[in-house]
Amino acid sequence: MSQWQELEHKYFMNTVERLPLTLVRGEGAWVWDEEGQAYLDFVGGWAVDSLGHCHPAVSEAVTRQVHTLIQASNQFYTVPQVQLAELLVQNSCLDRVFFCNSGAEANEAAVKLARRYGELHLKRAYEVITTTGSFHGRTLAMVAATGQPRFQQPYVPLPTGFINVEYNSIAAIKAATTPQTCAVMLEPIQGEGGVNIASGDFLKAVRAWCDETGVLLILDEIQTGMGRTGTLFAYEQYGIEPDIMTLAKGLASGVPIGAILAREKASVFTPGEHGSTFGGNPLACAAGYATLKFIIDNDIPANAGATGQYLMGRLEGLKGKFPFVSEVRGCGLLVALEFNSDIAGVVVMACLERGLLVNRLKPNALRFMPPLIIGRDEVDKAMGILEGALADITSQA
Ligand SMILES: *Cc1c(COP(=O)(O)O)cnc(C)c1O
Repeated sequence: MSQWQELEHKYFMNTVERLPLTLVRGEGAWVWDEEGQAYLDFVGGWAVDSLGHCHPAVSEAVTRQVHTLIQASNQFYTVPQVQLAELLVQNSCLDRVFFCNSGAEANEAAVKLARRYGELHLKRAYEVITTTGSFHGRTLAMVAATGQPRFQQPYVPLPTGFINVEYNSIAAIKAATTPQTCAVMLEPIQGEGGVNIASGDFLKAVRAWCDETGVLLILDEIQTGMGRTGTLFAYEQYGIEPDIMTLAKGLASGVPIGAILAREKASVFTPGEHGSTFGGNPLACAAGYATLKFIIDNDIPANAGATGQYLMGRLEGLKGKFPFVSEVRGCGLLVALEFNSDIAGVVVMACLERGLLVNRLKPNALRFMPPLIIGRDEVDKAMGILEGALADITSQA
């Protein structure tokens, strides 16, 4: 164990079982450890490094901003936050933006906005319907929203006002809707929950149900947004539009940021009802603007779509070679590989030893969420390493 790893064990709270690797540098789809060993990064800062590590467009924007203005109170106007808000509105179906610092915070704001809307327009309705297997963040209210008991159980009692129902079931959402319901909150693809993809029929039916009942549709695109699924936002592929959308992870290619976007009719906050000290900070918004501008100008979503297709094709090819590979699913560069036994942890370690970083999604599944700028050569390299790792595991079994 290295010096840094020993010190971490001494000083840091024990919230995560880390992999035995200390990363010190990144460039594009590659990272380096303290010994100078290179790794191809298919974790991508946890679906965060949209443009890869230290992309010149982002690093230059941050460098410029860091010498200009880092932070100002939100009682003043600042330029980067307006530029980023304008670009988000011009490239989405939504009309107004609020910035915060993380995904959980964006979802909190979305729920507050929906409750405020309910108070004004839905006879004080306040309940939010969410789905099982979802992930909406780690704050107490978002733990209540997240339909996974393992995140909830240690922290009971949880804030009330959330109802978790089955994913991909319009019947379950209809049955849970009452006069108290102000919103339905969903991920178009459940990332942390297993790369579970909403069916087109389901999302269309949810949209129609929200229109019929007047409740708001909140899409959590924190993991699916910014081009990862092949379109700038995943909702575009479903032919529906949310009333509220949340973003974070890939929005600033690694600089912490969150955002909530809403249609005009749902933008009901009035001064003093919500706020954030750091939210919309010039540094984060300069990184966000540079990221989004590059994504749009270079049609990065198209690359994510095509490269994702190629990656899934290569993974499908593993099925014939390794009988324990059972399923490939995903959209764009958000992809899961499932095994018919609990070998994901072993595979992650075997890949790491060979120079590839992948995520253990579940005991029996891996997730791939590389930078959106990767090409086929990087996929080929990663697949070569993965195949070597799987072959090794086969021979040991
Ligand atoms: C990661 C994630 C969150 C939480 O974001 P944080 O920045 O960790 O608070 C919420 N929703 C989805 C879909 C996510 O993937």
